[in-house]
Amino acid sequence: KKVEPKKDEYVIASDSAFAPFEFQNNENKYVGIDVDLMKRAAEMQGFNVTFNHIGFSGAVQAVEGDQADGMIAGMSITDERKESFDFSDPYFESGIQIAVKEGNKDDVTSYDDLDGKTVGAKVGTESADFLDENKDKYGFKVKLYDDADQLYEAVRVDAIDALMDDYPVIGYSMAQGQALETPIERESGGEYGFAVKRGQNPELLEMFNEALKEMKRTGEYDQIISTYIDDSG
Ligand code: GLN
Repeated sequence: KKVEPKKDEYVIASDSAFAPFEFQNNENKYVGIDVDLMKRAAEMQGFNVTFNHIGFSGAVQAVEGDQADGMIAGMSITDERKESFDFSDPYFESGIQIAVKEGNKDDVTSYDDLDGKTVGAKVGTESADFLDENKDKYGFKVKLYDDADQLYEAVRVDAIDALMDDYPVIGYSMAQGQALETPIERESGGEYGFAVKRGQNPELLEMFNEALKEMKRTGEYDQIISTYIDDSG
């Protein structure tokens, strides 16, 4: 079904570094699953988008403050966020997980082993919320970073003992050669959705949903995923 756009151009806010969903390639061009899905949806439904890769919490604020029409940023659909956002149909099943530097796995095999340690996450994310809710129970400290580059670097240089992030993002970083291990089973849940401010740009949400359905039907969705995620293990 074809839906009519109501604006000449929609501004889409996104994360600045969240590979394989959005990241800069060798030519400093943003690519990734989110970028491809949104661009293809725009082509299929005949609307225009410009991306603004300002970081995850920046994107949340941009949509809330009407500086962007929507955001696609590996954003988990949560009840709390539904109070200020309307979400598309889910397009990816994710989950959050602890990662430690390779070689430090023996020290950390359960959340209890994080006692006295410092765990990092990105500001405003599900991981940050999870750590905040569990820090007293397990006795760890939480350190928050603005972007993934800083977060992953902090683990690499032992500025923090562990990080928490979405598992496909940890997996991508490991596939790219960062020496990490994931000794604790991941927390399930966390379906990703494209989001608009609650009550606004309903046609944009509808256009995305229609295109997503069509991409799933034709196999194009699977093709986009497998461009960035190697399922063979
Ligand atoms: N899925 C996580 C969340 O919604 C992280 C998203 C991100 O860091 N881009 O909080």
